[in-house]
Amino acid sequence: MTDRPAEVGVPFDAIVVGAGFAGLYMLHRLRGLGFTARAYEAGSGVGGTWYWNRYPGARCDIESMQYSFSFSDELDQEWDWSEKYAPQAEILSYANHVADRFDLRRDIRFDTRVTAATFDEAGKHWTVETDRGDRVSARFCIMAVGCLSAPNRPHFEGIDDFGGPVYHTGEWPQDGVDFTGLRVGVIGTGSSAIQSIPIIAQQAAALTVFQRTATYTVPAWNEALTPEYRQSVKASYPALRAKARARPTGFYFPFNMKPALEASPEEREQAYEAAWARGGLPFLGAYGDLLFDKAANDTIADFARAKIRGIVKDPATAELLCPDNVFGCKRLCVDTGYFETYNLPHVKLVDVSKAPIERFTKGGIVVAGTEYLLDAVVCATGFAAMIGSFDRIRITGRDGLTLAEKWRAGPRTYLGVAMAGFPNLFTITGPGSPSVLASMIQSIEQHVDWMVDCMAHLRDTGARSIEATHAAEDAWVEHVNEVAQVSLRSTCSSWYVGANIPGRPRVFMPYIGGFPVYVQKCNEVMSAGFEGFVLDAPAASNREPTVRLTERWRVPLDIDVISPAAVAARRVPVV
Ligand code: FAD
Ligand code: NAP
Repeated sequence: MTDRPAEVGVPFDAIVVGAGFAGLYMLHRLRGLGFTARAYEAGSGVGGTWYWNRYPGARCDIESMQYSFSFSDELDQEWDWSEKYAPQAEILSYANHVADRFDLRRDIRFDTRVTAATFDEAGKHWTVETDRGDRVSARFCIMAVGCLSAPNRPHFEGIDDFGGPVYHTGEWPQDGVDFTGLRVGVIGTGSSAIQSIPIIAQQAAALTVFQRTATYTVPAWNEALTPEYRQSVKASYPALRAKARARPTGFYFPFNMKPALEASPEEREQAYEAAWARGGLPFLGAYGDLLFDKAANDTIADFARAKIRGIVKDPATAELLCPDNVFGCKRLCVDTGYFETYNLPHVKLVDVSKAPIERFTKGGIVVAGTEYLLDAVVCATGFAAMIGSFDRIRITGRDGLTLAEKWRAGPRTYLGVAMAGFPNLFTITGPGSPSVLASMIQSIEQHVDWMVDCMAHLRDTGARSIEATHAAEDAWVEHVNEVAQVSLRSTCSSWYVGANIPGRPRVFMPYIGGFPVYVQKCNEVMSAGFEGFVLDAPAASNREPTVRLTERWRVPLDIDVISPAAVAARRVPVV
């Protein structure tokens, strides 16, 4: 940790909390605006998710050539991704490259956690405090804290008595972990577990997986990218990026709008085989109604279960691995050799769905009276998603209202980017935005561009603050809930609804109406002079709004395919 004096009383135009992809891009854009900005980052380096999640097998599950920034054509052209799905270390190198290339580091203070942010009504500015004694002020405060950045460490009785190390995938040791010759336990079977289990199994002497809910996962068919392939994508990158922006998921893949139940069983089988052979998240695009019609969903769930039974040799283990819930209801996983791993003689699956983990002992974990002896445990237990990192900061808005109070019954935002009672506070990929239901870098770029255009507008018109109205916020929250009800995704106990954290109100947090529909709504709000917001502008400068919408978000969206009508008709595949 670097030693540095605390910053006290320093005024900035903007404070950014977090230096993942969101914080980095925000800093870059603020610079372009000529704003002074300071970013604080709890980690010792940039990259966010890719800085913290160094577990074996960690990699993206949206193809690297799309899971990357699109704001700079030079960056697109100069960076070479090595694999279809890049490993964590390479994505972290990319984040570092971006930080260096755009000279962002000098405005970031690392190893510094923001602990409080308080709005000063009279001065219309935010005071931000950190655990390093900093106390600075800024007109704007931008939360770039991430949706999946607060690890969920469930309480297990006796965990402190365990004789070996306990790791969390989301806070993996910087220098890695060598499991060679050890008896390892993994708790959880979500995306992080599914990526790490096959690799840990290669090293460990014995691996025991504690599964509470079986998971659907589709093969990645990851592969090295050839120079020819990379070149072919780069030759038409802007067109690919534009197509991606027009898709509900914010990334491009071919999808079939036809309903599954209109196909014959033979046609469906062929379509699912072809989609399985392509692999990855696009598997869900095999038909247009899979997440809207339970009977349609049953057909893809049956197909996936048949695949599991075909791969896993021990019938009892195969049955345990077969999920019985809606396909794609929890976040779909993408794997390399996950089910095959259970055919290895030293890998064991323990069902903790009916009898939960009882306790840790010095030597291992007890389930239903049986002790499983272990040298090390990996908690792949996920995150306090969407709002966990907000919970860790004391955020106080107008009239002493805290964010914790405001969100007690579930998060409330306008467009996922702003809140009534919290002027000049922006939330990148906040609850109520498409965020985790879209390719996240795409979501981040759109949010940041919109916010920067908004801040420029305030500066140009002399307005000191902008605040969402309660009416606009209520209407947006209602719309977010309404579209969520259309999707089968709202029917299961996933982190999307906060169900993985005991005591959380059950609210579907991301916006499921599709990325382009959301972008269009944001554009309309801006074009109408920030409809649904109140701007505090001096009377003399009450000019016509100067709308500055960043050029690439003017791109006509593919809304013939992804219209609100299509959403209502339950014909939009979402990932
Ligand atoms: P983050 O990367 O989470 O960065 C937030 C940063 O804020 C962190 O560095 C954190 O330390 C910092 N921070 C938080 N609170 C504070 C505070 N109080 N003070 C100071 N700093 C703070 N998305 C995809 O679209 N495709 C993928 O393939 C994909 N794979 C993923 C794999 C894993 C293992 C995980 C966990 C997530 C994945 N995601 C994926 C989602 C991923 O989080 C986003 O794609 C993206 O990296 C988020 O960037 P961000 O900057 O918004 O947040
Ligand atoms: P997750 O999907 O929330 O999975 C957590 C797992 O831990 C679940 O299987 C959960 O079981 C289990 N669990 C939690 N508490 C438990 C307890 N007390 N006892 C037993 N089991 C318990 O978390 P994640 O795998 O870290 O993934 C989170 C998200 O990050 C993903 O959905 C994805 O968006 C992103 N991600 C992406 C990738 C990628 O492929 N690029 C990789 C990792 C993460 P239940 O299901 O029963 O709750």
